[in-house]
Amino acid sequence: MPPALLEACKLFKDYGSQRAVDGVSFAVAEGRCFGLLGPNGAGKTTTVEMLEGITPPSAGQIRFRGAPVSRDYPQEIGLMFQSTALQDFMTVREALHTFGHLYRRHADFDELVRRCALTDFLNQYVNTLSGGQRQRVLLAIALANRPALLFLDEPTTGLDPQARRRFWELVREIKAGGSTILLTTHYLEEAHALCDEVAIMDHGRIIAQGSPAALLAAHFDESILVLPPDQAPALARAELAAQETLHGLELATRAVNETLRRLLDAGADLSGLRIRTATLEDLFLELTGQELRA
Ligand code: ATP
Repeated sequence: MPPALLEACKLFKDYGSQRAVDGVSFAVAEGRCFGLLGPNGAGKTTTVEMLEGITPPSAGQIRFRGAPVSRDYPQEIGLMFQSTALQDFMTVREALHTFGHLYRRHADFDELVRRCALTDFLNQYVNTLSGGQRQRVLLAIALANRPALLFLDEPTTGLDPQARRRFWELVREIKAGGSTILLTTHYLEEAHALCDEVAIMDHGRIIAQGSPAALLAAHFDESILVLPPDQAPALARAELAAQETLHGLELATRAVNETLRRLLDAGADLSGLRIRTATLEDLFLELTGQELRA
């Protein structure tokens, strides 16, 4: 494992009598993408705001490159908020220059434009951009100081699937260039696509942490059989309990052969059967009892 670039050490945050963050510790290794997931109100934003230096912790410590954060820390990080107000009648080019001048260290302008695929609308006003284009501009602004650590806060919320995938490609490229990323997201597919490690938060605490694959392997050793809704009577005859989901009737089983045999004996039509493995969405549901939706 590469050395930790950022460490959250026993972070607490109280708002009056409300404890928003309750002793959170984790380390983000250099060059990795770390994902923070959790249902609404879990404490993700508060945790990230402490790590970004926006909110002081009530207790605990934040360490960067192995030492407590110093006054230079803001120069080392790049922040992409879920939404950032940009002045309407400013071109993309002007916005990049304006934000770039806030920092001592600058990314090469042409390189930034190429990396974030901004060439086609560089001279357009920011208020005329599509959602996907706007997010790419915000990403470029977050990269304007060549940050060692990039914070992405729900970067693709509200984007259509194509724009989301396009954005993921950019993030992968940035990561391949050696950047370290802390991502919060409501999309578990996004976490699976981008993160080397995820932490799932609930009620201010981390309730599970690890690589997506390791977490899934630790929690699920079952296959999930998915049958069309019209197979409910056969399932009842086979005395098998299934859950109604958006995908169909789902039943988890460790004994696939035996379950299929029981279904066939009960007269089930298996022509519409699908078998899927567990996803982060299943894990999230199991751990928090809630679905994660934007
Ligand atoms: P979401 O996904 O909805 O953004 P979250 O996981 O980011 O949720 P936080 O915004 O960190 O959660 O909130 C954690 C808890 O702290 C919530 O109960 C919230 O109401 C409370 N909280 C957050 N900010 C404040 C504040 N400024 N004053 C009082 N309570 C707050």
